[in-house]
Amino acid sequence: MSFSYHCYNCDNQFNSSQVSYSCPKCEGLVLIETITEIVKKLFSKKFQPDSFWDFRAILPKIDDQFIVSLGEGGTPCRRSKRLGKIWNIDGLYFKDETQNPTNSFKDRAAALLVSHAQSLKKNKIICASNGNQGASIAAYASLEGMECTNIIPKKIDVGKKAQMIAYNSKIIENGDYVDEAIEEAIKSKYKEYYQATPEFNPLTIEAQKTISYEIFQQVGPIEGIIVPMGSGGLLLSIWKGFKELREGGIIKSLPKMIGVQSQASSPIVNQMEQIEEILNKPIKKGFNSYALGILVKKPFYQDLALKAIKYSNGMAISIPENIMLTSAEELASNEGIFAEPASALTVGALNILREENKIRTNEKIVCMITGSGLKTPHVLEALSSRAKTAGLGGILSTKLKILSQISISHKNGIYGKKIGEILGGISLAAVYQHLKELEERELIKRQKKGKSVYYRITEKGKKVLEALETLITLL
Ligand SMILES: [Zn+2]
Repeated sequence: MSFSYHCYNCDNQFNSSQVSYSCPKCEGLVLIETITEIVKKLFSKKFQPDSFWDFRAILPKIDDQFIVSLGEGGTPCRRSKRLGKIWNIDGLYFKDETQNPTNSFKDRAAALLVSHAQSLKKNKIICASNGNQGASIAAYASLEGMECTNIIPKKIDVGKKAQMIAYNSKIIENGDYVDEAIEEAIKSKYKEYYQATPEFNPLTIEAQKTISYEIFQQVGPIEGIIVPMGSGGLLLSIWKGFKELREGGIIKSLPKMIGVQSQASSPIVNQMEQIEEILNKPIKKGFNSYALGILVKKPFYQDLALKAIKYSNGMAISIPENIMLTSAEELASNEGIFAEPASALTVGALNILREENKIRTNEKIVCMITGSGLKTPHVLEALSSRAKTAGLGGILSTKLKILSQISISHKNGIYGKKIGEILGGISLAAVYQHLKELEERELIKRQKKGKSVYYRITEKGKKVLEALETLITLL
């Protein structure tokens, strides 16, 4: 098999039978090129995709006998039942990748990479990751009895590690950060292995871009997509998918790529300020020095991801850590999707962008839900140990807390997000629902200032609050 590569640094185009991630001329990052005519042909008719392999024509060619599959892809892109109404977004959709065989979007990459490894008759496979890709690769490798080695940082989600162990993978712990694990995996002692570390294998991007194709076939053209960013690889993949659809004349314009990171670690979002500089500078691969400091500060696909965001008129946003857990709960309790914190970030972002009016009510927006919350024990613990007051009592006390908060706020009022931050442990959607109900009962009133909405207590509200507080002292 021969791959056709395009260097994003010097525009060099070359063919090679080898899997390569950097340009032989300039060491820039390379991605695999897709033939536009094949894209046009495949999308000339509408179909409901029910498998990753429905898009096989656009993926690197692998013979039937080598295909390894657990039934990945074809995941639902479901219209929101409740959150869309709460936030007043008509066309809110969730692309639910938790429904893949090992409960993350990485099964797409694992299916393609392990199939490719089979076609090369490789019997050993290596992968450095912080969990999802490693768990997926282990599962698919187990189908073929391949020897699988996962290199991981010391701390990863225990659910992901348990998956690797269950799928019979060897595990090597290396360093505190995934960057160190990645650095280890490229060492020459592993040169006999099939390289399944996402950063070193651009077939990963090819596999993940099928998410865009599926979304198009499922719900048609969209205005925006919200994607969590680690290395930036998923955002880049999704952008590549939509870009190919546009080049094939299937869609007219690219959806806004909206990248989200946690405020605890948001190197890509921070770089957004230097966007003009990045657009004009060459894109070199991020592993020249193999130095930890640089790697932590510089996610592998950072510059390409930022270009994708810029060219799609998108945005990069970071979300406070405390919103992460409440967003996960919000998504589960309103939409029946239990997501890992990274994907719940997309819901937190949506909330904030809507409040700032950066997403309009009539837009068709997709939130990427990348992996399952069942893999992340601290979310499980936080949720299961939370002593929730059931029924009316709980509702009453939350409303009372919100009303109290508004009554003691600045005379100019307080905005919804602030209330959520002060109360803690409550989703923003829930705050807004309570605010709406308090407003309907004329206990509070709203005032628009610029793009923000502030809430103030009414005279009626003060009386009710006083009465409630008296009542509580009697309980
Ligand atoms: Zn080059």
